[in-house]
Amino acid sequence: MVQDRERLSLCRAEQAADLVEVFSSIQGEGPRVGERHLFVRTAHCDMQCAYCDTPLCHVSPPEARIELHAGRRDEVRWPNPVPLTRLLDHVVRMLREVPHRAVSFTGGEPLLQPWVIEALAPGIRAEGVATLLETDGNLPDALAAVLDAIDIVSMDWKLPSATKEPARYAEHEQFARLSRSREFYVKAVFVEDTPDEELLEAATRLARIDPAILLILQPCTPLGPFKRPVPSGRVAELFDRVSRILPRTRVLPQVHRMLHVP
Ligand code: SF4
Repeated sequence: MVQDRERLSLCRAEQAADLVEVFSSIQGEGPRVGERHLFVRTAHCDMQCAYCDTPLCHVSPPEARIELHAGRRDEVRWPNPVPLTRLLDHVVRMLREVPHRAVSFTGGEPLLQPWVIEALAPGIRAEGVATLLETDGNLPDALAAVLDAIDIVSMDWKLPSATKEPARYAEHEQFARLSRSREFYVKAVFVEDTPDEELLEAATRLARIDPAILLILQPCTPLGPFKRPVPSGRVAELFDRVSRILPRTRVLPQVHRMLHVP
């Protein structure tokens, strides 16, 4: 665990959020790819994945980058922590500027600040917009506490070959069981060297929970220690083996990288 517990307690007490950024863009991952989402990226994370593209999530940034108008990239800086009343007003205003399909709580790990989701969800739903949680799937107790505020759960199944962190099977399984009451899918980011067994183990454990679970295999975008894209032959090979266990398995890359949007 690397999150700053003292800082998080302060945020909770002040009903405020430590944020990295707020911006509107095209969802680039998972089955909701191509939809316009408003992203609320919280600071702090309980993992340190080798492929992480959000290094700021591991500190308490003094300021958050806030896009003023949806999709215009006209960002300003707000001091952290941001009061939730101010954040909600801004989110609602952006949702009214351009049609959005969801507000994606992403990170970092948003479940380290569950009070943010709870406070914003009613106002977001009142605009006819769904709430989506992008999560590392390690904090089932926090999920249980805010599940009613979440419409869509996008859960990562972290593979040790890609994260360089230990597997967290028990947490992932409990998390997946809880999430089935919502629109739910699981993403697994894999690298060229990911052993077949890691993905087969994930698929087998998910199939035991529900064989209809949608699993997205996401080839790692070259980043950090991973310099090369996963070869297409390797992608097809893994897909064929995993989809025999979970028939709804799909392969999807990070599409927002191709679109050159954040
Ligand atoms: S869980 Fe996400 S935000 Fe946290 S270290 Fe891993 S990739 Fe980065």
